[in-house]
Amino acid sequence: MSPATIYDALIVGGSFAGLSAAMPLARAAKKVCVLDSGQPRNRFAEASHGFFAQDGVAPLTLKAAGREKLAAYPTVDFVNDEAVMARHTQDGFLIETLRGEVLRARKLVLAFGVRDHLPDVPGLAERWGGTVLHCPYCHGYEFLNQALGVLCITPMSVHQALLISEWGPTTFFLNGKDMPDAETLSHLKARGVQIESAPIATLEGEAETLDGVRLMDGRLLPLAALYVATRTEMTSLLAEQLGCAMQGGMHGPVIVVDQIGQTSVPGVFAAGDITRSMHNASFAAADGMLAGVAAHRSLVFGPLGM
Ligand SMILES: Cc1cc2nc3c(=O)[nH]c(=O)nc-3n(C[C@H](O)[C@H](O)[C@H](O)COP(=O)(O)OP(=O)(O)OC[C@H]3O[C@@H](n4cnc5c(N)ncnc54)[C@H](O)[C@@H]3O)c2cc1C
Repeated sequence: MSPATIYDALIVGGSFAGLSAAMPLARAAKKVCVLDSGQPRNRFAEASHGFFAQDGVAPLTLKAAGREKLAAYPTVDFVNDEAVMARHTQDGFLIETLRGEVLRARKLVLAFGVRDHLPDVPGLAERWGGTVLHCPYCHGYEFLNQALGVLCITPMSVHQALLISEWGPTTFFLNGKDMPDAETLSHLKARGVQIESAPIATLEGEAETLDGVRLMDGRLLPLAALYVATRTEMTSLLAEQLGCAMQGGMHGPVIVVDQIGQTSVPGVFAAGDITRSMHNASFAAADGMLAGVAAHRSLVFGPLGM
């Protein structure tokens, strides 16, 4: 690629959403660049579950397969680097990377994902993606009918505790947070959820496995897995730099997009975890496909993409 290359579309983030967005553009023989820093959110898990026809495949294997399929299209370039700055130009957009590369494109698709803020509980971070988890649809079946825990972080944690009890006997760890109101307690009781109000000292177990939660009062509550509704933040400031409208989501801020992934900034599309509160690889891939098609249509028909 020469420095003068202007891509039809530049995709920031090359995982479920980004690689899916690139495919319809590649299949329309558009010049596409996928810029990716190689840190998908689910890289901490050994297996990814629920993805169509790929249940149980390792996250990085899935991503590599997606890249391999795209690499068959000669108009697709991959740049392994991190976007650090984005701005508008006369004919589209310009991105600067961490290593100092400058990339230009007529359209942008943002698909850079979110990162999780893990609560500061000793022994929790090193089990993230193994026995400390956020989503039972992704990693619940593996712990079916075993002792499960939910850590109280936000008001959403109550909802999580009510849901997790579908998979196994559940304890809701308040860990210093206030006792829920009477109505909430009656819902939790109806689902058989136990409440534990003592603060947590540490999670115990060999390596990634979990034997249980050690409480500050010395008791060890045996547990196979602990669920945590993390707060999320975007991995990049690009959307702010471009002036994309944002709004508060259930776990953290999300980029406002319409039904086809167009942001509030013409020519900038977005897909995946950065645009929604329900986070899942299949949703991200579907969002990416939509955004890729919309970006292509806007190349053909102009900003409205009709
Ligand atoms: C522990 C864990 C386990 C999970 N397990 C499952 C599961 O089993 N099944 C399931 O369906 N979902 C699972 N999920 C959810 C799933 O990981 C996300 O919904 C999905 O990864 C979102 O895809 P995405 O493409 O939006 O973002 P990501 O997959 O996070 O990809 C974003 C990509 O953008 C890159 N990037 C970030 N910033 C920049 C930048 N500035 N410049 C260039 N590149 C950048 C990153 O390196 C990354 O490659 C899990 C999540 C977690 C945290």
